[in-house]
Amino acid sequence: TIYNVGSINLDHLYQLAHFVRPGETMSSDSYQCLLGGKGANQSVALAKAGADVKHVGAIHHSDQAILDQLEALGVDTGLISRTEVPTGHAIIQLTRAAENSIILYQGANHALTEEQVDQALSQANAGDWVLLQNETNLIEYTMRKAQQNKLKVAFNPAPMDAELTKKVLGFVDLLIVNEVEAMDLIGTTDIDSTTAALPNAYPGLAVLMTLGKEGVRYFDGDLRPGTESLFVKAFSVEAVDTTAAGDTFIGFCLSSLMKGEDMVQAITRACAASAICVTRLGAASAIPTQQEVSEFLAK
Ligand code: ADP
Repeated sequence: TIYNVGSINLDHLYQLAHFVRPGETMSSDSYQCLLGGKGANQSVALAKAGADVKHVGAIHHSDQAILDQLEALGVDTGLISRTEVPTGHAIIQLTRAAENSIILYQGANHALTEEQVDQALSQANAGDWVLLQNETNLIEYTMRKAQQNKLKVAFNPAPMDAELTKKVLGFVDLLIVNEVEAMDLIGTTDIDSTTAALPNAYPGLAVLMTLGKEGVRYFDGDLRPGTESLFVKAFSVEAVDTTAAGDTFIGFCLSSLMKGEDMVQAITRACAASAICVTRLGAASAIPTQQEVSEFLAK
């Protein structure tokens, strides 16, 4: 079982001719309300990949539809609390030139309580995983509890907060970052020096670094200077929307690892899943099923 302690957002998407200007009122061409948030996206990816996933989070008590949608996709919602605080959401303006401008409201995603975390993790068995992103409160508290309960911790520090991340790395078994997050963590603006510095900066830490259309690099935490890290090339596809590529990768990779696949198999399958994801518009709805991934790999 994997306990994903993460955000749940409603993404309100408005298509407009141009961004609303100061003082202007304008009608949108279209409106869609979609389930989002890195936490929810990763739970959906885990469920679609066949993992037993329990989402730990919070929403406003009036938003039952979110729970129904997550359950329909295979996510256990029994540990999601209902609060007085409004559900986290994003107001997204999307222009015809495909530029976006986003207002984010954290809302209930920052209303997790210690009691809720304690109760959730007390159900877990030694060896179960806890997954966190950086869109909820109580990150350090949750990791400390997870370690006390002998659970494995995977951390995707997105959006990156380098100070917090460095502080909690001692609790982390597997760190998953994209290029920008890795550079922010190391404090450089150059990916090659980041790749060189990362294994030495945190010896003993296993790191998966996703490199967009290039692929994925993995450091197992025991690399000695001069030894090679693992690199898996991405699949070549026509990308139309890279939203949720990272979330898809994380869900499929962790699901494979939990099934006992080795790291190369897990990364390869996750690269296939995220390659499919980038060929489709949308977030949660763009995440493929296990069967679609198997068919893609068989081609
Ligand atoms: P994030 O979405 O967090 O920024 P990345 O952009 O690194 O993460 O993408 C995660 C993974 O998705 C990559 O490691 C790769 O396997 C896959 N991916 C992303 N963009 C593409 C692309 N254009 N073509 C093929 N695969 C892609």
